[in-house]
Amino acid sequence: MKTYLSWLLPYTCILCHQPSQRRQDLCVDCLNNLPILSHPCPSCALPLPGDLQTPCGSCQRQTPAFNKIHALFTYQTPITQLILQLKFHHQLIYARIFGELLAEKIQCTWYRTTPLPNVIIPVPLHPSRLQKRGFNQALEIAKPLAKILRLPIDTQCCSRIKPTPQQITLSAEKRRHNLQYAFQIHGDLSGMIVAIVDDVVTTGSTVQALSATLKKHGANAIHVWCCARTAVTLPQKIAL
Ligand SMILES: [Zn+2]
Ligand SMILES: [Zn+2]
Repeated sequence: MKTYLSWLLPYTCILCHQPSQRRQDLCVDCLNNLPILSHPCPSCALPLPGDLQTPCGSCQRQTPAFNKIHALFTYQTPITQLILQLKFHHQLIYARIFGELLAEKIQCTWYRTTPLPNVIIPVPLHPSRLQKRGFNQALEIAKPLAKILRLPIDTQCCSRIKPTPQQITLSAEKRRHNLQYAFQIHGDLSGMIVAIVDDVVTTGSTVQALSATLKKHGANAIHVWCCARTAVTLPQKIAL
């Protein structure tokens, strides 16, 4: 039976399927149970054992091309299922929720005292992958984010020109090799502070390759905003 409150706030939690009682399709109890990334490497967001405030070994050995990765969650249950449902079962509502959660964290925590980047660039898919999937999950996450933060999304300045097999099946070495010259930039990004948006950062080789390419075309700084980070270390520098 619909209560007065459920007419007023007709949001249903995507996890427990109960009325959400707030203006999002995720209730506060389920939100509080999600695996927040609590001790990230300050550079690549790799989950670290304690609050060390120093970069992980990989970032100390080789400074990444991006300035910083911000990640909401560790890549574990139920985040893994939500991402898989989004990517392979067209559950775009999850992209909206991730975008809203990112926006909240950006406004209230990550950028509370620092200026936002100038533009959002969702990690592009190769046209063949885009055609097969029908949408780019990174763009779908970026849309609500851009709206809330009032930032432009640029989907034109960067394209993926090399089809890459599912990265998950490849070794770190093969991923690196695969991503060389994977992205093409159209135009000049001089002086821009770019926010790259992606769903999951796994080894970081995709955002590393994209960041290096964007910097080569003038970008001043690269910030990466992602929903989840796996506990895999960043590979060494990708030669471009
Ligand atoms: Zn719930
Ligand atoms: Zn690191």
